[in-house]
Parts: sequence; C-alpha cells; structure tokens
Amino acid sequence: MAAIHLNESPWPNLPPTPLLLIPVGSTEQHGPHLPFCVDTMIAVAVATQVAERLSDHHGYRVVVSPAVAFGASGEHQDFPGTLSIGHEALRLVLIELIRSGALWAERIVFVNGHGGNVTTMSEVVATMSDEGHHVAWVACALESATDAHAGFDETSVALALSPGVVQMAEARRGNIQPLAEILPLLMKKGLQPITESGVLGDPSLANAETGERLLEELVASVTARIISGH
Ligand SMILES: [Zn+2]
Repeated sequence: MAAIHLNESPWPNLPPTPLLLIPVGSTEQHGPHLPFCVDTMIAVAVATQVAERLSDHHGYRVVVSPAVAFGASGEHQDFPGTLSIGHEALRLVLIELIRSGALWAERIVFVNGHGGNVTTMSEVVATMSDEGHHVAWVACALESATDAHAGFDETSVALALSPGVVQMAEARRGNIQPLAEILPLLMKKGLQPITESGVLGDPSLANAETGERLLEELVASVTARIISGH
C-alpha cells in the first residue's frame, strides 16, 4: 500500500503497526539566497521519498508525520529570523513524540535535516532504546559532502526541490575553511564571527541537476539504513 501522510489522511486510513517517519528540521538562516525552511524542506522530501520506496518496493507499512520545524539552532541566533527551541525543549519534544507515536507505531525513525539537532537526537534515541522503544534516527547527510551550510550541496538540493525559493543572484561564496577547523569557534561563538553572510561553503555553482543526484544519494542511503535496521 502507498505511504500514508498524516497531513493528508483521516485516522481510519492508517495501517496497523506501521513504521513512523518523523522529519525534523530547523528554522534558521541559510545565507542571503535561501529561506529559513531549507533543513525542514529537505527532511520532509527525504522522508517522503524514502516512505514511497519502502512501501512500493519493500512492502513496508509507512506513515509520514508532519515535520518538527524547529530545532536547536543557537549557533545561528545572531541572524534575525532564526527561531531556535534549544536542546532541552527539543529533547522533550522528541521524547513525547516517541511516547505518543509508540502507542500505535511499531517503529519510529526521525529523519533529521539539521546538524545542530544531532547531539540531542542521538541521546534521546539511545535512552529511549534502552527503555525498550523501537526508535532510531537517520541523517540527511551526504557521504560526499563538499560543504557545511547553505553552500553548494544544500543549495543544489534546494534548487532540485523548489527552485522558486532560491535567489541564485545572491548566492556567493562564504567561509570555505574545513568544518573541523572552524567548529570549535562555531560552537563557542556561533556562525557570525566566522561568516558574515551565514554561508559555510560556496553556493555560486549550485545547480538542480547536482541537487537531484545528491537527493537520490540521500534517499538511497536512508532507505538502506532503515531496511538494515540501523
Ligand atoms: Zn541547512
């Protein structure tokens, strides 16, 4: 059967004991050329395509939840428009979603679109797994990643998903130092001292064709992880 989206379905349409996919994103600045919803948009797109693949080709009963559109984005807070709920609130949101979803879903997987959510999400998943919940998280992260934030990769995927939201005329190179080098300062002081525009990487050559390829890479790897049970 086709994957069910809670945003589009009445309750009698739900299959028994499904796999529940919950996209988790953020509402944070993505440079001068992308909107605040990019992480959420990517998490929703990946969850939707993974759900289709699992149900159409692998016989899974899959339900896709509405996205958690706010995450832990404190490192972007110097840029106006960023709305972060912080780690403690995110932790509680994720825990309550697991408790509530577990009453009808056999297994719950968070599909995460924002790196800043990772620490909290992996802690929550470890604790709740210890308590007997069948829960996991997967990252919308590329093995072949070229940059970290609002750069070539993310802008290409955004162009593939929703070209109308990308202002390519504003897409300019930000800080291109390797993430590992700038991470200590980033964790301490946030993005602004490192990149005035809010971009880490170079989005200027981003294109939809690359975005399609990256998206396929994400969908394939997340699908494979879910099938393998990790
Ligand atoms: Zn992002």
